[in-house]
Amino acid sequence: MTQNIDGHFDVLIAGAGISGIGSAYHLQTQCPGKSYLILEAMEDFGGTWRTHTYPGIRSDSDLYTFGYRFKPWVGPPIATAEEILNYMGEVIDENEIAPHIQYSHTITAASYSSEEKLWTVRATNSATGKEKTYTCTFLWMCQGYYNHAEGYTPEWDGMEDFAGEIVHPQTWPEDIDLKGKRVVCIGSGATAATLVPAIAGECEHVTLLQRSPTYFFPAENRSEFADELRRIGVSDELVHELARKKALFDQDETCQRCLTEPDVVKAELLEAARGYLGPDFDIDKHFTPSYRPWQQRLAFIPDGDLFQGIASGAASVVTDEIDRFTETGLLLKSGERLDADIIVTATGFNLSVLGGIPFEVDGAPVDFSQTVTYRGMMFTGVPNMAWVFGYFRASWTLRVDLMGDFVCRLLNHMDAEGMDEVRVELRAEDKDMEILPWMDADNFNPGYLMRAMHLMPKRGSNPIWEHTQDYWKERDELPTVDLTAEEFVYSRRAAARSTAA
Ligand SMILES: Cc1cc2nc3c(=O)[nH]c(=O)nc-3n(C[C@H](O)[C@H](O)[C@H](O)COP(=O)(O)OP(=O)(O)OC[C@H]3O[C@@H](n4cnc5c(N)ncnc54)[C@H](O)[C@@H]3O)c2cc1C
Repeated sequence: MTQNIDGHFDVLIAGAGISGIGSAYHLQTQCPGKSYLILEAMEDFGGTWRTHTYPGIRSDSDLYTFGYRFKPWVGPPIATAEEILNYMGEVIDENEIAPHIQYSHTITAASYSSEEKLWTVRATNSATGKEKTYTCTFLWMCQGYYNHAEGYTPEWDGMEDFAGEIVHPQTWPEDIDLKGKRVVCIGSGATAATLVPAIAGECEHVTLLQRSPTYFFPAENRSEFADELRRIGVSDELVHELARKKALFDQDETCQRCLTEPDVVKAELLEAARGYLGPDFDIDKHFTPSYRPWQQRLAFIPDGDLFQGIASGAASVVTDEIDRFTETGLLLKSGERLDADIIVTATGFNLSVLGGIPFEVDGAPVDFSQTVTYRGMMFTGVPNMAWVFGYFRASWTLRVDLMGDFVCRLLNHMDAEGMDEVRVELRAEDKDMEILPWMDADNFNPGYLMRAMHLMPKRGSNPIWEHTQDYWKERDELPTVDLTAEEFVYSRRAAARSTAA
């Protein structure tokens, strides 16, 4: 139920997705004296896992690492959205986070006063349209990275001619009837790979139409290691800790191998696909990407379900480009036609930089593309704010835990020193460093990121100004960051200064 909270808080958290709930847990555990409020646009918690309701919706990371470090995961490694929401619900209940969440309130503006050392945040109640104003000392942005209202659908010629239904997975209609329908699903990422096998038995036939292939990693949805530990009576807490370590070790090894022996990893992935699809299937055409494994997120498919769907004949894959939509389906560049009753556009997201919220500092609008990011967590010119952007290759949530520790340490440090404001500023040695796009496109290059790179904060060539996307490096570095180093500039409110004097 929506409560009615307003006023001043030490910390405002934007978003009650997996990042916001995790950050709230760390804040109340590590900074117990701080007042805080989570502002959430939706009517309930969960973010991604509430927005997406398409058939089969599930994680593609294992929950030993996508789950929080502090809350054991006890189910199979790959989880459904419902299981993830239940898990988050338990975290909220067990830690009494619910009274700190203001649902149905969308943040519409945030402005900072250097004099007051204070953020003023405006939010609109989606039920009543009423606007509220909050103030806080520190803003913890956990609003995710894409626009929840609408997914990304490219413009194709003739879309208006199509007599059937066009559906984006992000806004999946509750009442859609797939029985007896020919479905074409455009896309080759994790969403298409989840959706296609999930509806294969329900519709007449589903075709996955991809412009270019993706690597898929088929494996059983179980952790033999965790199951064995459970069998011998190890506690849930210890199983979680150890299974998490094992998953991280295995992921690190895979990542390293992708860099040092990409051809071997590639051959293994293709061989696994061949195991399901048989020797006559054209693996070269449909499942052999042009990029190195891990240059884009490697899509895990539990029990090879996508391949099983194709092998059974209920699903098929076509690798081609769309020339145009027609009344009956799609005309492809090869000249082939694909008839369809429903076309699903699993074509990705619209990236949203900090929730699309207009930010101001001392009355001047903040253009995030003109800021430099401190380790992908804070921005030059934007005081008292942290931004949670998780990992792409490792589980997103690993960074929520690491950043929780970092932000709490920073807040406690400021309290200990009697400081009201922290800014990150380029050091003398950074003046001549190269200013680069936020992500190295050669390192990681999914479409939604490439389309919006010009809006993202910049990275610098000196290590502390990079957003490394490297969990293993950050795991060692973040806890040892020297908060008195030159890049952190602290100050007090004028009133507090005069009291102290
Ligand atoms: C279908 C799908 C599957 C995924 N699977 C995985 C996976 O297996 N592993 C992995 O690591 N990552 C995965 N990801 C990436 C995923 O987005 C993150 O892992 C994670 O769930 C993001 O959590 P978040 O809390 O940061 O953001 P979100 O889940 O996007 O939540 C942000 C919340 O902030 C709220 N919000 C946004 N703007 C405002 C505003 N202006 N005012 C108030 N509230 C606001 C939103 O309503 C939302 O509830 C997946 C993403 C998708 C879409």
